[in-house]
Amino acid sequence: MTKLDNASLAARDLAVLWHPCTQMKDHETLPMIPIRRGEGIWLEDFDGNRYLDAISSWWVNLFGHANPRITAAVRDQVEQLEHVLLAGFTHEPAVQLAERLVGLAPPGLDRVFYADNGSSAVEVALKMSYHAWRNLGRPQKTRFVTLANSYHGETLGALAVGNVALYKETYRPLLMEVITAPSPDCFHREPGEDWEGYSRRRFADLERILAEQADQICAVIVEPLVQCAGSMRMYHPVYLQLLREACDRHGVHLIADEIAVGFGRTGTLFACEQAGVSPDFLCLSKGLTGGYLPLSAVLTHASIYAAFYDDYQRLTAFLHSHSYTGNPLACRAALATLDIFESDQVIAANRRFAAVMAEAAAPLADHPHVAEVRQTGMILAIELVRDRVRREPYPWQERRGLAVYRAALARGALLRPLGSVIYFMPPYVITPEELRWLARVAAECIDLATAG
Ligand SMILES: *Cc1c(COP(=O)(O)O)cnc(C)c1O
Repeated sequence: MTKLDNASLAARDLAVLWHPCTQMKDHETLPMIPIRRGEGIWLEDFDGNRYLDAISSWWVNLFGHANPRITAAVRDQVEQLEHVLLAGFTHEPAVQLAERLVGLAPPGLDRVFYADNGSSAVEVALKMSYHAWRNLGRPQKTRFVTLANSYHGETLGALAVGNVALYKETYRPLLMEVITAPSPDCFHREPGEDWEGYSRRRFADLERILAEQADQICAVIVEPLVQCAGSMRMYHPVYLQLLREACDRHGVHLIADEIAVGFGRTGTLFACEQAGVSPDFLCLSKGLTGGYLPLSAVLTHASIYAAFYDDYQRLTAFLHSHSYTGNPLACRAALATLDIFESDQVIAANRRFAAVMAEAAAPLADHPHVAEVRQTGMILAIELVRDRVRREPYPWQERRGLAVYRAALARGALLRPLGSVIYFMPPYVITPEELRWLARVAAECIDLATAG
């Protein structure tokens, strides 16, 4: 056996793997980092270096790596039943998880459809919305409304309702046409204007679209409160309230994609709670299993379910499936995750962590190359710009964010900026000391990356 170290594993990796969301040529100069083990918020590589996982491994990890409680649940399950198809068969973890999700979700969402990743949950919600209208005798409702700068995943349907140019533009000829409304993203508010005022003002555009085209529209899809992949841009809950009212008025479904913001990220278990609204479809994934296994769920209400429920011969059933739908191991990981939420009073603890995070990052707000430090709950974002006064962005070709990424890794922090936006989205088991350390590291790296 050859000894495993970073260099040898990285070399073998680069000989056979093709990594997600990566220009592989970057790895001619950027070291690939093989991770040997995880513990809590820390990852350890094969050379013994440690990295604080400040972005929860792409926003999935909630309670730390190798969490003993989730591990025990998965281990227990794997010895009983690893998987069974979910058509015609069921199992206790799937039933129990559905019961608990229904109990936790905003009122009226009492039916759970499983899929196995975020993008497929979005596909399910889109297909269900269209199909429900069709079953109800409204087949002319075929269009979706999305917000500028939104992100809903990478499969073709999810990509079509997303709006981040970097991911979408190349594939545009393959994508269905959607109606795009301006984003309520408060980065663009006028000087002196508050978040609520700006989000209200932006809503007028969406209201007009619905008033004019509702008879062709199935649904509006939004990421409640934070457009995460779209540079962690944020908006006020009033937008969701106005949107819910307008969708009701115009007979259009509301799809809430809480794949990233669900499970306590924004300060409440679900972001929709802050607006006091229930969507017609709620998409969940990422944190659902605490970052252990791929699983997603789409919650909807009884009247949608009823629109599909009929004699087989009427061909109204939702004939959609994924092989690993409702996998028992994933459901057990999710149940263990929900247990932790309950027993550890996580939402209250997060409020305290969020306050520490705000305080630790506050000095950065005055940095000459920081346009804004913004925060919603356990998500804090720092937007770097060339010119702070004119809010002139850095040319993307300069890859300032990548410079922050490299500098942070050298200091033992995993920050993976979105363009020039540095953000913290840590597992909820981070301590105040670690948050303060992380903010100091970020400040140092921002200084380095913006010098010259
Ligand atoms: C990550 C994400 C998705 C896609 O989930 P995958 O599991 O990566 O397919 C969809 N919507 C939002 C808001 C996301 O952040």
